[in-house]
Amino acid sequence: MATQITAGTSELRDITKMERIGTHSHIHGLGLDENLEPRANSQGMVGQAKARKAAGMILKMVQEGRIAGRAMLFAGPPSTGKTAIALGMAQTLGSDVPFTMIAASEVFSLSMSKTEALTQALRRSIGVRIKEETEIIEGEVVEMQIDRSLTGATKTGKLTIKTTDMETIYDLGTKMIDALAKEKVTAGDVIAIDKTSGKVSKLGRSFARSRDYDAMGADTKFVQCPEGEIQKRREVVHTVSLHEIDVINSRTQGFLALFAGDTGEIKPELRDQINTKVAEWREEGKAEIIPGVLFIDEVHMLDIECFSFLNRALENELAPLVIMASNRGMARIRGTKFRSPHGLPVDLLDRVLIVSTRPYTEEDVREIIKIRCEEEDVSLSSEALAVLTSMALQTTLRYALNLISCAQVLARKRKADTVDVEDLRRSYSYFMDEKRSVQWLKEQQGTLVFEEIGGELEKDA
Ligand code: ATP
Repeated sequence: MATQITAGTSELRDITKMERIGTHSHIHGLGLDENLEPRANSQGMVGQAKARKAAGMILKMVQEGRIAGRAMLFAGPPSTGKTAIALGMAQTLGSDVPFTMIAASEVFSLSMSKTEALTQALRRSIGVRIKEETEIIEGEVVEMQIDRSLTGATKTGKLTIKTTDMETIYDLGTKMIDALAKEKVTAGDVIAIDKTSGKVSKLGRSFARSRDYDAMGADTKFVQCPEGEIQKRREVVHTVSLHEIDVINSRTQGFLALFAGDTGEIKPELRDQINTKVAEWREEGKAEIIPGVLFIDEVHMLDIECFSFLNRALENELAPLVIMASNRGMARIRGTKFRSPHGLPVDLLDRVLIVSTRPYTEEDVREIIKIRCEEEDVSLSSEALAVLTSMALQTTLRYALNLISCAQVLARKRKADTVDVEDLRRSYSYFMDEKRSVQWLKEQQGTLVFEEIGGELEKDA
């Protein structure tokens, strides 16, 4: 399923680390300075300076909202950091800007058409920032009555709050009662309550402090009501994607479909209605559109129908930035008999900004290996680092990175804290890289169950 990515704070990172260390978990951004110049080794990123800088320039345009309907393609050999750079872009954008990542093959599903799958991915990548005003009750607690006989989800009670010139009684629900209990609010305290979120802040016992503007957030403002009363209000901002609005409004599914992940096809008429509604909110200043990023990995796996759909979708006013990645050179465009660079039709290629990634230098590879060892909590002897670096240059970076954890298992077996050359050598003998695997297949010709069918594979590839 498509993955929605949020900003990588260190807190988030720790949680991920506890669960599983992902292939790209060491990437925390593009590693650029404020002039968009790539730092040698920063935010988990090493080398690939030109591509990182290009990615940074595109991001700047996205952040300034100057880019709509643009597409870029990362083209380069396997393991040269195309996905890593795209993820670095996602981290830089932050949690408010939607970033959706799909592999092109996910579009081919039996449960929905290819164009529906692409539409959903595109609409997941468009954020709608909705502004809502919430009233803040602020004053001294005169009295709290809570019915203690009720527990769980049905607690009720009353709260009397006194401001400088009036006393008001509020009915309390469970959420509010729990919030008051959490803050240990008692009579005499001066508190602020956000009516929408139910958030309670204790402002201390002196009434003067209740005028602390920042207590409920920096967006707080005072509004003069018709009765002359001064109310405190705050603007709350939620960001949802267009796709989430589609799902919540599709009558057959309801918002629960968001959790099930199984949204099915959504009717075009519904999408039209939602586009109109969002446009109205925009006019009224209630909402803002945030074009995000759709990353399509292995884009050569899409077929000619998908490409032509994407070409048209990019013309839409509500199009996100589409980033594609491919490790193919001249390849057949799926669904046709024609070959084209990266397996993409020329009309699509024509509108795409192409950024190439190149094989890494020895120094870069060594640094990436070191970063991964740190990420995986593996200590590597200096000899082993040199051997693994040379293995990466002879095979692929990804193969070498995969060997780190295998070698660690072997080191642990011999009760050593540090992975040494011997552990690597043994891992290398257990797990084949792509070249050795091909070689082995050639040697085994005739003994395996299926054999290559001359020419046919090429057609389907
Ligand atoms: P493919 O074409 O096979 O999909 P790719 O170009 O997308 O390959 P990645 O998956 O991004 O390659 O890179 C392979 C591994 O190397 C990943 O673990 C990635 O995080 C790491 N890596 C790649 N480039 C860098 C870099 N510049 N700095 C740090 N780590 C990197």
